[in-house]
Amino acid sequence: MRILVTGGAGFIGSHLCERLLTDGHEVLAMDNLLTGTTDNIAHLAGRDDFSFIHHDVTNYIFVNGKLDFIFHLASPASPADYLAYPIQTLKVGSLGTHKTLGLALVKEAGFVLASTSEIYGDPLVHPQSEDYWGNVNPVGPRGVYDEAKRFAEAITYAYRRFHGLNTKVARIFNTYGPRMRADDGRVVPAFISQALSGRNLTVFGDGSQTRSFCYVSDTVDGLVRLMESDFPGPVNIGNPDEMTISDFSEFVLGRIDSRSSIVRMELPEDDPKVRKPDISLAMEKLGWKPVVGLEEGMDRTIDYFREKKH
Ligand code: NAD
Ligand code: UDP
Repeated sequence: MRILVTGGAGFIGSHLCERLLTDGHEVLAMDNLLTGTTDNIAHLAGRDDFSFIHHDVTNYIFVNGKLDFIFHLASPASPADYLAYPIQTLKVGSLGTHKTLGLALVKEAGFVLASTSEIYGDPLVHPQSEDYWGNVNPVGPRGVYDEAKRFAEAITYAYRRFHGLNTKVARIFNTYGPRMRADDGRVVPAFISQALSGRNLTVFGDGSQTRSFCYVSDTVDGLVRLMESDFPGPVNIGNPDEMTISDFSEFVLGRIDSRSSIVRMELPEDDPKVRKPDISLAMEKLGWKPVVGLEEGMDRTIDYFREKKH
């Protein structure tokens, strides 16, 4: 197939491009490099079956030739990034999703939206299953991301119902791995780069909030299976292995020989207190579950950051 990946120079997008190429597809990566970098896809440059288009998807999108599928991943994803780019985040989730759906319509292409566990907000149901509608503060600082993604889901479903477009929605939970930026502010690169450079690990709040970390190859495999299935979703893609941020900081210090200790900092506003995916639907409909454990995934990620000398 000929497949477009928006956000293809980003963390997950670059891994998705690689996987699709390995599966024998032709891949076009489109990105405006707001939070991504061509370093992530430099090793793919020059291949006949890969091309890069530098473009902001909030503007009209033109792609020459046929497209069979579009993965729409373009969006800042780290809380620090979407707080730094609040308007761009709202625009790419709304205008960017609209433009990308319009492209899918003219090309008669399938469409996968990279949505997020953030649409559940600070959840009152635990673990989160797809039938939970969420607890989002629309006017809080995280609202720019959460509401943009909720709008993105709504317009994706409108195109499905009104135009009969073959759409799918993946709700991705915290994903980590090589090619995250050391300074993107997310907890995995933050703790690893702090430990490697001997700085103290910045645990926000009392560290009792929980997250469930999924290695990037597992997330990408879930996205590909969703594309290949008849199931429209929404479907949670994440690893249900939940831990507190406090325990995670100890875990990182246990894997990196470091002089760092732990320092507490203020908890950001509206930081979700718990997060853990219910993946029953992904297991049933996609035959998918994560296979990379935290030890293995973190060791690969730590190796990547070591080589980058952060
Ligand atoms: P990332 O920041 O590494 O990648 C996002 C990419 O989108 C970047 O390369 C950025 O430059 C690009 N982009 C942003 N605005 C754009 C625009 N207007 N036009 C074109 N390109 C644009 O983030 P990521 O972690 O790889 O996330 C990828 C997608 O997955 C995002 O949509 C995010 O919401 C979703 N997601 C990620 C996670 C996670 O844990 N990583 C969790 C849930 C959802
Ligand atoms: N966090 C932290 N220290 C950091 C960065 C993040 O304690 O340096 C916490 C953050 O408050 C949140 C969790 O780690 O509770 C995960 O944060 P991240 O930014 O990775 O993603 P989120 O799940 O909040 O989108």
